[in-house]
Amino acid sequence: MENFIVSARKYRPDSFETVVAQASITGTLKNAIKSKQLAHAYLFCGPRGVGKTTCARIFAKTINCTNLTPDTEACNECESCKAFNTSRSFNIHELDAASNNSVDDIRTLTDQVRVPPQMGKYSVYIIDEVHMLSSAAFNAFLKTLEEPPKHAIFILATTEKHKIIPTILSRCQIFDFNRIGVAEITTHLEYVAKSESVEVESAGLNIIAQKADGAMRDALSIFDQIVSFSGKKITYQDVITNLNVLDYDYYFRLVDEFLKNNVTEVLMIFNDILNHGFDGHHFITGLSSHLRDILVCKDAVTVQLLEVGGDIKEKYKAQAMIANSDFLLEALQIANECDMSYKVSQNKRLLIELALIRIAQLTLKKK
Ligand SMILES: [Zn+2]
Repeated sequence: MENFIVSARKYRPDSFETVVAQASITGTLKNAIKSKQLAHAYLFCGPRGVGKTTCARIFAKTINCTNLTPDTEACNECESCKAFNTSRSFNIHELDAASNNSVDDIRTLTDQVRVPPQMGKYSVYIIDEVHMLSSAAFNAFLKTLEEPPKHAIFILATTEKHKIIPTILSRCQIFDFNRIGVAEITTHLEYVAKSESVEVESAGLNIIAQKADGAMRDALSIFDQIVSFSGKKITYQDVITNLNVLDYDYYFRLVDEFLKNNVTEVLMIFNDILNHGFDGHHFITGLSSHLRDILVCKDAVTVQLLEVGGDIKEKYKAQAMIANSDFLLEALQIANECDMSYKVSQNKRLLIELALIRIAQLTLKKK
């Protein structure tokens, strides 16, 4: 593909405003900047790909901007902002503790910290994956953290907060980043697709968002992968084929047949799934998720736990209307038992078939 820029890089947020799904954090940071109440050390915790490093960079740019907007965003026009935007600012230093975790690495950093910045007010030190520092390195760093020079601000980022020693924790202002929801990822992907003139079915974006498991970076790289594979017109089918995801239509059909007590058709659908090369264990855990999703649709409050959007949501709701809760609970229990016995079973196919037959007979008993 010509001039294809990786979306994760191209659509990296460059202002607090554009950070997805971390409004309370960006709000607090903006307020701190506005009221000039900056701490010397911040700890950004949370799963991977949710915007920790991105926020750290935006923060570094904003506190060095000489011409903040009324909304406390960087102006993107002053010398400092321009330097930041072209990655040539000397006010930001990034250290990846995953690969630079020795005492020497930290010494080099702390030597640097003493030197005041040539331009701008603050030198920001971002230490990514800070939990990877060796304990000796942690101790060497602690001294600097206890008495930081006026111009130095540390932003420590970690996916594993529990591994950070209490003496570090107590010296940092802590921010917990949320996992990003499927709906928020889908909305952002829609925006990226539109900006790239890529036409994509919303059900497909939903699958990408689910696969990304809360990480925007992963969602964007999956999106790129599919664009490079399928071009600028992407269907739901393209997405599931590319990601090797079982079409949720199978599950809708199965539940319909369960409710009709149609054992023959149920077994044929399962056979079809296996013939498409899908793994039995994935299938059975997928069935459990599907039953769970229908169950949450039966209640006006829990329906918000359903992480799908658009047309598919209506399909879940429709199936929830015809399946009663007793059936769903019993079916879930059978699917769950099957899931647990799967690994030790000698005849995995039969194990699943038996579970499916039992589920297909559930409503029979009650007639
Ligand atoms: Zn500026």
